[in-house]
This record gives sequence, C-alpha cells and structure tokens, in this order.
Amino acid sequence: MILDTTKHYQICNTCVMDTSDPDITFNEQGNCNNCTNAIVRINKEIFISDSVKKVKLSKIIKDIKEEGKSKEYDCIIGLSGGVDSSYLAYIVVKQFGLKVLAVHLDNGWNSELAVSNIKNIVSHLNIDLHTEVLNWEEFKSLQIAFLKASVIDLEMLTDHAIGVALYKISKKYNIKYFLSGYNYQSESIMPSAWLYPNKMDSLNIKHIFKKHGNGINIKSFEYINFIDYLSYGKNKMKLIPILNYLDYHKKDALVALEKELGWRNYGNKHDESIFTKFYQDVILPKKFGIDKRKAHLSSLICSNQITREEALRELEKPLYTEEEYHQNLNYFLKKLQLTVYDYNAIMQNKPVDHWKFKSYAKRKHLIGKAYRFIFKK
Ligand SMILES: [Zn+2]
Repeated sequence: MILDTTKHYQICNTCVMDTSDPDITFNEQGNCNNCTNAIVRINKEIFISDSVKKVKLSKIIKDIKEEGKSKEYDCIIGLSGGVDSSYLAYIVVKQFGLKVLAVHLDNGWNSELAVSNIKNIVSHLNIDLHTEVLNWEEFKSLQIAFLKASVIDLEMLTDHAIGVALYKISKKYNIKYFLSGYNYQSESIMPSAWLYPNKMDSLNIKHIFKKHGNGINIKSFEYINFIDYLSYGKNKMKLIPILNYLDYHKKDALVALEKELGWRNYGNKHDESIFTKFYQDVILPKKFGIDKRKAHLSSLICSNQITREEALRELEKPLYTEEEYHQNLNYFLKKLQLTVYDYNAIMQNKPVDHWKFKSYAKRKHLIGKAYRFIFKK
C-alpha cells in the first residue's frame, strides 16, 4: 500500500503498471503479473468466438427471463450514472428487453451532471429507479473518520452502502439476478494493495469509526452483520458481469449513450462523483503514491482497446489543472466542514493499513482455519 521509494523503479513492457503496485512482479521479458494474469482471463472470457459468446449470453438471458416470469422485475442493476452502469442499463432494456429495477445510491457527492444523466436514462428507458439516500451527517462523519484514520479505501463506505442497498432491495422484491457493469475490457487490472478488498466488512468500518470518529450515534447507515457477511451474495443473489459477454468498447458505448439517451460525457472516468474525483486525482496520488489511471489504461491495453504508447501519452497529462485543484479542494473541505489545517494533517499522516483494525475478514479466516482443523480438511 505504501509506496516504497527505496525500491528500484520498474514499469511493465506490455502494460503501464509499475512499482507503485507494491505486489508487482516481473518476468524475464519484463512483463508484469497484472497484465499476464489479465490477458489469461481476457483470452478465456472475452476473446472467444462470437458464436460461443452468443450461446452463453442467450442462455443467461433465457434463465433470467424464466426466473422473473411471474415477478415484477427480472433483475436489479446499480446505476451510478457513469459510462459502464449507464450502458448496462441501456443494453439490458433495449437489447434484451429485461424488466429492470435500477438502484442508485445518493451519498451526497453526485455531480449535477450525474443527476441529470440518471434522470435521462430512467425516462428514456422507462425503468423504475430506487434511490437510496444516505443520512448526510452520519455519512460525513464516517468519511472524516476514514480520512483521519489514514486508511486507503475511502470508497469502502460507499461500496458497502451500495452492497447493502442491492442486497436489501433484491430481497424485498425477490430478485435473484444482479447484473453488474464490471467488465474485463476496462477493469481487469486493479492491484489488491490499492484498496481494501473486503468491502462488506462492516466490523472494519465500525472499528475505524470507533477509533477515529466523532462519537455520534450511527443510526441509519446500515451495516451488514457477520452471518450476512459470510453468506453475502451466495445463493441469494446471482451476480452476472454481463458486459463481458458483449463486444464492449467504451468509445462506442459513449456514442450510443449520447445519441440514444441524451447522456452527457464527464470527460474522465468517475467524474460523476466529486468525492471519487478528488480521491482519485488528489488523495491517492499525493498521499498514497497511486495513480489509478495506470490500472485502467493497462486494462484497456490488455483488451486491445488502446496501445501502450497511447496509455503513456495519457499518463503524461496532469490529473488536474491548478484551478481545478483549488476549486475541488474548496468544495471538498466545505462539504466535509474541514479546515485547511485538518486537510494538511490528513495528507501528511502516514498511511495505515485496514488490517490494523478489527475485521470480519480476519474472523472468517480464523473460522475457516478452525473448521479445517476440527474436520481435518
Ligand atoms: Zn504489465
């Protein structure tokens, strides 16, 4: 997680991942583990013949429709207003004719453009939308606690809340299928050290808040319990990354969205949320030495959507202009009611590992160990 500046710098010969991923390894040809593994997965899942993909996809759609026959909805999707989830909504309605329930999480950070894009998608596609609105005072307190704790995954709170909302709503409407916008084409690479992978680990959140929070009573932010953590997603919800079965090209997706849904482009990935933008453009690079564009661009290289030279040129561009930085910093501080002094302290504090706090993930590991010991498995 922490960039070790004493380590010899190296960048991959195939993708643009480098030693800012602390777990990166290189083979004799100078290719890294990230793209080597991603290419294997992409060859297995994406670069297969169109006819095989078609058969797989039509079987999935048939199963989803069969399951939803006597129900109000066939499937549930998360809708952030970003390219992937917007295109997902467009495809499942227009191409597959599925009855969709879209779920959106309003954590208080949506840009105006994201709000108008979601509105356009919902009205053009005529789908139902459930918006889960978080209590701002609580969410703000949780975010500040994470900032003060100096843990890396500031998006864990939002991801946890989305996970809980999808779980709860799919239960309420008895929806089995959750179609996700996750795709190998543009997201096959993300080093595990660049985030905390156990997003549903509410014990981790609670302990971080206990240690670094303002002590308010969190009443409405919903935490998943340990039993649900263990069984999360298992049997109850079937997650399908449907874009993997399509010839998904981001550039084409943008054209379709703009033409068909009145959707407008954000310019950069994840600019639909001002928090995400500030986190990825400023906090991650400045405090953790991480530029997430490297993973995103490397994924696109692996799926042959851009060349390595194009990716390198892209990385040369600054993440923000001075004006943008000050504008976004002011917004960020005002929204969280932090001072410049608070901000400087947060940025100067050394990163702390999520594993330093209590976690269900550790407990799950211990239970697994005990189980294997007792039953000698
Ligand atoms: Zn590589």
